[in-house]
Amino acid sequence: MSTVVDRALATAFDLERHSLFQVSTSSALVQGVFSGAVTVRDLKRNGDFGLGTFDELDGELIMLEAVCYRATGGGAVTSPGDDARVPFAVVTHFHPDLRLATDPGSLVDLTTSLDASRPSENQFVGIRVDGRFERLSMRAACAAESGENLLEATAHQSEFTVVQEEGTLVGFWAPLYARSVNVPGYHFHFISEDRRLGGHLLNMEAGPLEVGIHVESELHVAIPETEEFLTADLSGDHQEALHQAETADHRTGAGY
Ligand SMILES: [Zn+2]
Repeated sequence: MSTVVDRALATAFDLERHSLFQVSTSSALVQGVFSGAVTVRDLKRNGDFGLGTFDELDGELIMLEAVCYRATGGGAVTSPGDDARVPFAVVTHFHPDLRLATDPGSLVDLTTSLDASRPSENQFVGIRVDGRFERLSMRAACAAESGENLLEATAHQSEFTVVQEEGTLVGFWAPLYARSVNVPGYHFHFISEDRRLGGHLLNMEAGPLEVGIHVESELHVAIPETEEFLTADLSGDHQEALHQAETADHRTGAGY
């Protein structure tokens, strides 16, 4: 009997270890659903590692080793209280299943070596990257004005470059099939080793890096119960807008 219970507990624990907990959907974010649906406290119950944004898109959320940070204009980092509200986030209990050492040079080189290491195109993974970064191009979302969608709001985001910084990339890779729920492909936020500088990564150059990959076997999506989410039209295809808002491409994107 106790063996059965032990096994059930072990299975439950393992599921929890490999679960991705997500708040809201990327489609809702694209549509301008920026009202916080859960708190930082709720996130901490479901993970110790992750990324997201804050109420009204006011800054980039980075969670590392169970501590939550908020990066705002210019990359300045403050610590949000546990009551801070979050409209979109992805967190997990990070334990690397795979480790690799890489000397990537560019962001493209890094994602190429990650592509070769991920077990499948159909599995979500969490990715932790530690090392010294020669150059980091980042952005920090600034509070959206009422009625703006994601593209409009990120058009006035803060963009900045830092050089020669030690720190950590907190990231995820999501399969293409998850595109209406999550950001497909890679999504990284950076936090410096001294925890004073951070943001959403647009591009980078780096020397040798240590990489940990955490393979997820479950996805939990918390559907917001805010009026804004419940009445939003989420039926469209928002891929192009999401891609433009989340990558450096918005600089050259049509209309921007
Ligand atoms: Zn981001």
